[in-house]
Amino acid sequence: MMDRSKILNWLREEDPQRLDALWSQADTVRRENVGEEIHLRGLIEISNFCVRRCAYCGLRADNQDLKRYRMSETEIMGCVRQALDFGYGTVVVQSGEDYGIKTDWLAGIIRRIKAETPLAVTLSLGERPDEDLIAWREAGADRYLLRFETSNRTLYDRIHPPLPGKRSDRIAILRKLQLLGYEAGSGVMVGIPGQTYEDLADDIETFRCLDLDMIGVGPYIPHPQTPLWREMPPSIKTGGRPADPFGGPQFRQNGQQVPNTEGMTYKVIALTRIVCPKANIPSTTALATLNLANGREQGLARGANVVMPNLTPPAYRALYEIYPAKACVFENPRDCHACLHRRILSMGRKVGIGRGDSPRRTSLDARK
Ligand code: SAM
Ligand code: SF4
Repeated sequence: MMDRSKILNWLREEDPQRLDALWSQADTVRRENVGEEIHLRGLIEISNFCVRRCAYCGLRADNQDLKRYRMSETEIMGCVRQALDFGYGTVVVQSGEDYGIKTDWLAGIIRRIKAETPLAVTLSLGERPDEDLIAWREAGADRYLLRFETSNRTLYDRIHPPLPGKRSDRIAILRKLQLLGYEAGSGVMVGIPGQTYEDLADDIETFRCLDLDMIGVGPYIPHPQTPLWREMPPSIKTGGRPADPFGGPQFRQNGQQVPNTEGMTYKVIALTRIVCPKANIPSTTALATLNLANGREQGLARGANVVMPNLTPPAYRALYEIYPAKACVFENPRDCHACLHRRILSMGRKVGIGRGDSPRRTSLDARK
């Protein structure tokens, strides 16, 4: 049993040979529980407007330097048709928390996607009120992604301020989504300034407790137009992305600070796979941003079974800048599609066919 103390030991493990045993265990658990297929989910970033002021994200409301956009229904349906052409089984409709996205308008688009295609629809639109979540589920939305970002409540409150008069409780929303019949997905960032190894072990335990269908973990990547960047020591802000976003040992809280590295992200992916064997786990764009050459492949070899090729029209991609130097920003959807196919086949894995529904749900249904 991978209990909390073992999780903590693995998170602190640095010996490459011992870590090989962790990668291998995660890959075996992945193969036995979700098979060789890698499911492709076409990502459509429909709006970069956001009312929130998350201290880590470039889309935050007070970033005045960002040109804002919201896609039209025609543009969204164009991306949906591309998803079909490319053989994807799911579209992921993502945005900032944008109340310019009206409940009925989006419900109409979801109904059209469900009527005109066999695609599964995943939403990732932030902390919308119950009425919206209910309306979109009734319109046919299948899944909802909402990362809880960190299970440390004090850290969460610091980096994710609430809207006036309303406490932010993403765990409660996730439970509601499950009750409404959505497949629920969540996740965390790895290496948030102030995040400790203990916090990360708690995050993985929280994945286990929440019984999630999808779990996305990616490295925190500093964005210059955010408070978290501004808190970093001035010495490291020169020359684009800092080599060490935590500014050396003094900022590392006596060895407690989790680094926002590729290696640490692989550990979290691998441990998540072992703890939640049937979850769908993506190898994220943030990971590919840290290692363009083969970050995605390494994530897929260490527990992940999903990738999210970007369908957002090139004119909007660069504007969906949650962090700088995001991978694949200058590619078009056809390039992304071809590149990911090639990468998957070169690993000896298969491209998933169909919607790629949660294997956790399928096995629960079979037991009924
Ligand atoms: N607005 C919705 C929300 O917050 O759930 C969906 C879009 S938001 C951009 C999706 C995810 O991006 C967040 O849950 C967060 O984990 C991730 N993200 C934001 N800023 C990031 C950063 N600087 N580095 C890495 N991931 C980041
Ligand atoms: Fe908005 Fe989501 Fe970015 Fe927070 S993480 S500022 S809610 S887009």
